Amino acid sequence: MTRGQAPEASDDALLARARGGDRAALEALLVRHQPRVYRFGMKMCRDPEDASDVLQETLLTMARTVRDFRGASSVSTWLYTIARSFCIKKRRRSKFAPEALESLEGELERDGSHPPDPARGPEEELAGRQIEAALEAAISALEPMNREVLVLRDIEGLTAPEAAEVLGIGVDAVKSRLHRARVAVRNQVGPLLGVREAAPRVEGCPDVPLMFSRYLEGEISPDVCARMERHLEGCGSCRGACESLKRTLALCRATPAPQVPDDVLRAVREALRTYLDAS
Ligand SMILES: [Zn+2]
Repeated sequence: MTRGQAPEASDDALLARARGGDRAALEALLVRHQPRVYRFGMKMCRDPEDASDVLQETLLTMARTVRDFRGASSVSTWLYTIARSFCIKKRRRSKFAPEALESLEGELERDGSHPPDPARGPEEELAGRQIEAALEAAISALEPMNREVLVLRDIEGLTAPEAAEVLGIGVDAVKSRLHRARVAVRNQVGPLLGVREAAPRVEGCPDVPLMFSRYLEGEISPDVCARMERHLEGCGSCRGACESLKRTLALCRATPAPQVPDDVLRAVREALRTYLDAS
């Protein structure tokens, strides 16, 4: 048997080995997930230092508790559950609990995480960054309980039942918070997307963003769906509203996992090694 390039082990395979005491498998699992944990921490805490702490504390907790993990849930739900508990502690400790909307200018000035894209001209580049900043600001402005649902479902890509498991609430509660969050974010970001919403809403138009969000979560029956489609065909306003929600959600999904800063990576690696060497 030759040892060729082995296919990348699945989360479950790594997890099984890690639970059996395989340190390399545990480290591989943690390294694989750290950009997502960091992104989640950034979205929830909105502070790089807090996000770094959340990352470190989450990975250490995973290392400490991996043997007790019973595998009833996926690695992702386990990891977000732990990360979320640290985010909540951070929020409680924060003196300022900065729920205020940051100014667009501030978001744009700080930037730095997105190098210019050579495929975009300077004007498109600016428009793109304004949209990103508006999305960021809109997500930040959400009530924490709605924000965490949107982040888990639309940025991290969990299913509604998985998000419900992380949050310890019912799937219906997840969905209703999600609809509220999506509609609020669309209302802020939509005007920047250049989607023509045509004529103003006429009497009798359905609440399209809400309906579309419910459709995405499988809550709309086929005949209601068919009625909606017929309405959209004849109503430019609702078509525009639907399109802007679609694009807003596509932007959420495209949120890149940020580069975890080198010093944070080093500190996390150091803390993990220290823990694992001692255990
Ligand atoms: Zn309409």
